[in-house]
Amino acid sequence: MLVVKKFGGTSVANKERIFNVAKRCIEDYKKGNQVVVVLSAMGKQTDVLLDMARDINPKASRREMDMLLTTGEQTSVALMAMAMDSLGVPAISLNAFQVAMHTTADYSNAKLKRIDTERIYNELENRRIVIITGFQGIDKYDNYTTLGRGGSDTTAVALAAALHADACEIYTDVDGVYTADPRVVPKARKLEVVTYDEMLELASLGAGVLHNRSVEMAKKYDVQLVVRSSLNNNEGTIVKEDTKMEKMLVSGVATDKNVVQISVEGLENKPGVAFKLFQHLANHNVNVDMILQSVEHSGKQDISFTVTEEDADVAIETIDRHAESSLKCDQVNVTRDVAKVSVVGAGMMTHPGVAAKMFEALYDCGVNIRQISTSEIRVTVLIDEKYTEAAAQAVHEKFSLD
Ligand code: ADP
Ligand code: ASP
Ligand code: MG
Repeated sequence: MLVVKKFGGTSVANKERIFNVAKRCIEDYKKGNQVVVVLSAMGKQTDVLLDMARDINPKASRREMDMLLTTGEQTSVALMAMAMDSLGVPAISLNAFQVAMHTTADYSNAKLKRIDTERIYNELENRRIVIITGFQGIDKYDNYTTLGRGGSDTTAVALAAALHADACEIYTDVDGVYTADPRVVPKARKLEVVTYDEMLELASLGAGVLHNRSVEMAKKYDVQLVVRSSLNNNEGTIVKEDTKMEKMLVSGVATDKNVVQISVEGLENKPGVAFKLFQHLANHNVNVDMILQSVEHSGKQDISFTVTEEDADVAIETIDRHAESSLKCDQVNVTRDVAKVSVVGAGMMTHPGVAAKMFEALYDCGVNIRQISTSEIRVTVLIDEKYTEAAAQAVHEKFSLD
């Protein structure tokens, strides 16, 4: 069997944890399996590196940022190889350059295009454990790139797909995927199974337990995932294709505080206005999320939307620049202390009333809804950030997920 095992930052945060991971991988190796290990940077090392860079130059180029951030993963893979070696098992660490993990050239948000597998297969044939840096890649000019925060999950799934692995296991600091982030909703429960589509919605809506692109890729290449803890042997959560089993009406609640609401007020009410606004934003690579257009009032209309905190300043500058000449709006309002709370469940496709029930839970705890958006399998509301935990807990309870 060929197994890909990915361990996140907390799982390799110190010497003891590194040896714990080394031993788990060696157990697999000794069963005769071929073992590929993907690691994140140790503990909060990526944040430490980001702080160091901001201290030196808050406007550092994204190329140099990626050059810096890739060192975190390089440290953990080398130390892991040393740990395995000290336990008498042959292991080799490889970075994105040595494997050759080819990505697009979008620094800090690159997409994997192709992985060369020859070197990995050769090392496995020589009965070595192969330890690979997560989160990083190289572009066509041999610059380092990174895949976005949490991107090591995507490295692991991409490797599992490229190597036609028999299993892809994501080890983290919780026992699996829960009905909500246990840090936000302490009563959250572990799910046994979750479908790709549900997991994709949860991950995209703030459930940081898996990088959303890793789920997208798992679905595309049909890589079944297991999410489980590196600190115990409890059974984890299986992420896989929709099955014929009874669909959960709601399988989880997700929260996301990384949201800024921007309202462009007093726009002309005529064709092409929304097009111009969002075209300007797209030209500056701003990802726009929930969009709300008001009804007409005295010949004018307002458009509100949300963006991430990282994109907010560029979005606001872009709108300000075009406010008078092209958009002809009266004013722009920015609200930073907002958050999204979402319910996700494949069962809501066939059962009406999920939105009403969610709004009732929010009403019961006195939380006002600023904006709403829906898909086939989710309902999302935008609320004041200070109510995030209370709202998530109330919604979680309303759907009897406790
Ligand atoms: P790693 O470093 O292993 O990649 P992460 O911090 O990226 O770990 O992801 C694990 C964390 O995700 C958990 O500690 C938990 O707080 C958070 N989380 C958010 N939503 C969920 C959820 N629905 N189920 C489990 N964990 C969640
Ligand atoms: N080390 C990177 C981060 O913190 C990638 C990862 O952990 O998946 O975002
Ligand atoms: Mg992670």
